[in-house]
Order: sequence, then C-alpha cells, then structure tokens
Amino acid sequence: MLIDTYGRVATDLRVSLTDRCNLRCTYCMPEEGLQWLAKPDLLTDDEIVRLIRIAVTELGIEEVRFTGGEPLLRPGLVSIVERCAALEPRPKMSLTTNGIGLKRTAKALKAAGLDRVNVSLDTLRPDVFKTLTRRDRHRDVLEGLEAARDAGLTPVKVNTVLMPGLNDDEAPDLLAWAVENDYELRFIEQMPLDAQHGWKRDGMITAGDILASLRTRFDLTEEGSERRGSAPAERWVVDGGPHRVGVIASVTRPFCAACDRTRLTADGQVRTCLFAREETDLRAALRAAPEDAAKGSDAAADAEIARVWRLAMWGKKAGSGLDDPTFLQPDRPMSAIGG
Ligand code: SAM
Ligand code: SF4
Repeated sequence: MLIDTYGRVATDLRVSLTDRCNLRCTYCMPEEGLQWLAKPDLLTDDEIVRLIRIAVTELGIEEVRFTGGEPLLRPGLVSIVERCAALEPRPKMSLTTNGIGLKRTAKALKAAGLDRVNVSLDTLRPDVFKTLTRRDRHRDVLEGLEAARDAGLTPVKVNTVLMPGLNDDEAPDLLAWAVENDYELRFIEQMPLDAQHGWKRDGMITAGDILASLRTRFDLTEEGSERRGSAPAERWVVDGGPHRVGVIASVTRPFCAACDRTRLTADGQVRTCLFAREETDLRAALRAAPEDAAKGSDAAADAEIARVWRLAMWGKKAGSGLDDPTFLQPDRPMSAIGG
C-alpha cells in the first residue's frame, strides 16, 4: 500500500487528464499566457490506464477521480473510464468537471462505468459567471448538470468557490437551488493555487463566513465527525434533512492529518499534496519499461514503478504548510496540478 511516515495511507488517487481548459476561472487560471504542457510530455491513454492498474492492483488505491484542467477535453476519456472499470479490483470512479460538454457525454460516461460527477458552478447569475470564468457558458454548465443527474451519475455534487465582491452574497441562493434540484453543494475555500499568485488570506471568504451566510436562511446541524472520515468536506444537514451541504475549509480548518490522497499530473508526476513543491517523475520510470502489447504487462517493470510511487508517498509532508510564514505557493497552478 501507499503509506507515509505519519502512518497515513493513500486510497484515493486524483488523476489529471489535461492541463487545458475551456474556462479561465479567475482563482485558477490567468486570462491568457499560460504555457500548456507539450504533447510528448503528456501521458498517453495506455500509460494512464497502466498507472491506474498498478495503483489499484499493487498499491491499494480504491477510488480514482479524473480531473484537470478540464477532463472532458480529453478525447480518450470514455475509453479510459471503460478500461479502468474492467480492472480487478474495480475502483470507484468519479469526475470533477466544469460541466461544459457533459450534456453530450454523460450517458456514455455512465455506460463506461463512471460512478459520479462533481460539477463546478460558482453562481446562478449568467453575468457573474461570465466575469468569474471569462467565458459566456453558464447555460452549458446547467445543462451538463441536468444531464449528469438524468444519466444517474449520482449523487451529483456541485463545487463552489466564493469570491469577495463577486458571488459571496449567493451562498443561500445556491443552497436553495441545490436542494431543489437534488444536487449536493460543497463550498471550497479559495486556496493559493492561482497562476497569477493573486490569493490573499485577508480577502478570502472563510468557512465561518459561508456558514454564517447560510444560517440566515437555513437551519444547519453538523454531521458527526465520524461521518467525515478522511473526506475533506465537513457536512451539515439542511433543515432537518435529507439534504446536506459541505464546506471544504482547506485554509482555515485543514484536514491534512486525515488525508488519504495521492495525485498524478497529466505529465506523469506524482504529487503527494496539492501544495507540494516536490514531484516524483513516474513517467520516466514508466517509459524506461514500456509495456509490450504482445506480451502484456511486465510484472518486474510494474513492481519498479510501484516502488517509485511508494517512495514518493513515504516523503509526504505532515501538512500543507499554509500556516507557515515561509509558505511558498507551488509553481504549478491548480489547473496543471489537478484539483
Ligand atoms: N475544470 C474542472 C472543474 O473546474 O471542476 C476540474 C479541475 S478544477 C482545478 C477542480 C476544482 O478546483 C474546481 O471545483 C475548482 O473550482 C477548484 N479550484 C480551482 N482553483 C481553486 C482555488 N484557487 N481554490 C479553491 N478551489 C479551486
Ligand atoms: Fe478550468 Fe476548472 Fe480551472 Fe475553472 S477551475 S479554469 S474550469 S480547470
């Protein structure tokens, strides 16, 4: 299994399928000028499936989340999901997406074996959406959400980042809308992972702010911490249930001690934390022992790749370091790490 020196075990793998995106959310990407990863550096579909197979069969990974950039931009996505669904043991699989294009692909993804989706949506107002994402695609996201629910990619979770002066007055409206449409809303505190390095702790909307705002309209009861486990979202029961709302307070209430994650970037680097400044090059290990289609998997080569991954995990730091005055933001922005 993947274990670190603090005894934490990673069972949840986040795989970034691309660093590209069709939106330009202000808290994630600059308007222009971000360099894309070069095509030869990207893992191929076969390489991704191979690494997921090693993770599932040799390293104890139980859940795989596909992300990016925008994972729906990856042409091979449906086939990657289908091939991972055939693995033994079969991992649980979900997708984090901005929802654009989901209307077209939701059914095929469900048929391929995807279990669930998280769709990111920060506002119910098309004009605010345009300001926040720098693209006029609000309707596409709403249609993508409906298609995901209709295809049975449930529970459909909605990820929302609140930005001061833009959409921070919308928390209760968003929750009312999510309850009505049977989506599970989760607010994510803005983290210092934007390409422009513009994050400021003083200005950010905290979990405390979000809960205070929600409580102006809803009765919220905290779920016991035993229900939280290693899930980053703290959850509250809304107006007696059955709906829940979550808050992922990575900045003000970090959950590093219970972290069960390992991450793979689209160019094959293992990251043990969103905020890590070190990466381990799995692509080099992978390409040093390419799979031979005729002979199938090479047990010795796979074991070597698993060894490199275990070693990376062993070096995982205790925490994100956000509270340390010497904290330095990682060089890669969120879109290139895989959120
Ligand atoms: N493009 C997809 C999407 O937007 O869902 C997947 C990738 S995106 C990087 C994954 C999640 O990270 C989204 O929910 C997004 O809102 C969130 N995110 C991006 N930058 C963030 C930041 N600086 N702080 C907090 N969350 C962020
Ligand atoms: Fe694209 Fe997702 Fe980043 Fe927005 S948060 S720019 S949708 S990768």
